[in-house]
Amino acid sequence: MPSTVYWGSPHQTQLDHKETLPAKLDLILEKLNISERVKDHRVAIKMHLGFNVGYSMIHPVLVRRVVEAVKAEGGKPFVTDLPHSVATAAARGYTAETLGCPLYPSTGIDEKWINVHPYEYCQMTEFHMGGAMEEATFLIDLAHVKGHPATSWGAAVKNISLGSMDGITRSAMHDVSHFEPYFFKEKVADEAMRVAIRESCPYGAIVDDLEDPDGLHMHFFKCNLCMRCQPVANGALVIRESNFMAFLEVVNIAAKLVLDTFEPGNATFINVATHMTPVCDCFGFTGLPVLPDAGIFASDDIVAVEQAVLDATANMPIVEENLPGMMEVVAREGHPWQWIHGPAKDPYKALEHAEKLGMGSRDYELADVLPVTKPDFKQIAYIQAAPSD
Ligand code: SF4
Repeated sequence: MPSTVYWGSPHQTQLDHKETLPAKLDLILEKLNISERVKDHRVAIKMHLGFNVGYSMIHPVLVRRVVEAVKAEGGKPFVTDLPHSVATAAARGYTAETLGCPLYPSTGIDEKWINVHPYEYCQMTEFHMGGAMEEATFLIDLAHVKGHPATSWGAAVKNISLGSMDGITRSAMHDVSHFEPYFFKEKVADEAMRVAIRESCPYGAIVDDLEDPDGLHMHFFKCNLCMRCQPVANGALVIRESNFMAFLEVVNIAAKLVLDTFEPGNATFINVATHMTPVCDCFGFTGLPVLPDAGIFASDDIVAVEQAVLDATANMPIVEENLPGMMEVVAREGHPWQWIHGPAKDPYKALEHAEKLGMGSRDYELADVLPVTKPDFKQIAYIQAAPSD
């Protein structure tokens, strides 16, 4: 049976606040029966609170609607994110006063509030999960949808994955892209060739290997697979999908570990697809949106809600004039997020992997909580437009 994904369109019929996203979020929260379900629960509202001068994360007006719904029947909410984002959240409008509940760092003030979860993947053997996530008995994953250089996009899965782990684990997760060898120094003729390979990348994705003077190291998140390096590398540097997909998979694994700490039915997922910038909120600034607003999507199924957002945005072309000058469309295949971050960072394949992990189902039905209609202007008593000369 398909999972239900509730959807609030960003469009409206009437010029009425009841048809705007805060009101539609209220309808979605009612459909999810949040107030009743979280009664007496300690509710973690996991967000990305951004950094520095970013202003495109989920607006406090929307967060407050969620907090009020949680508190309506006695739920005890707190908003949580990584320590550096929580510590500076007030500068971006997120305070206990504006949100209506406290804000706690997910891994503690100094990232020492963690529990160790054994799990083997590539070089990793354990994940250090934030204590705030584990002390909560109900999770509301309240995620902003945006592009991301490492995964092509970020939403509900990424929000609870990296955002619930300490710095040691986040760093190790990024390193899984290096697990499969990609640089073969025996194919490098001399130092001039090694330097030429490094300098062939306009994005600075290829750098010196600090542990090997004859080596090169890849920053996979900076690589958009433009392939300019390939004629120069002549087989010494291999750009293959598996190195990129390893990171997308480990993101799923960390999210699954988080979800497994909650009783079945005690987690729900809300994706807010507005002001979708090309890169993550952790960059600490807000650029122009590169996809049109798609509204709010919510479900008890994290895979379904991610699939619904991807499907809703799949045929929206990237707004190329809004890309920063140093970004480019490298391929017009796959999802628009792949156009700018690289075809190997396939968000659909990542969801297939999430489904295999048992996180949810890609099969869903979309339920529009307030459909938009087009009025028949002929039937409306209205001041007629003046005839043009
Ligand atoms: S494929 Fe393009 S972005 Fe990636 S390392 Fe090579 S030159 Fe750099």
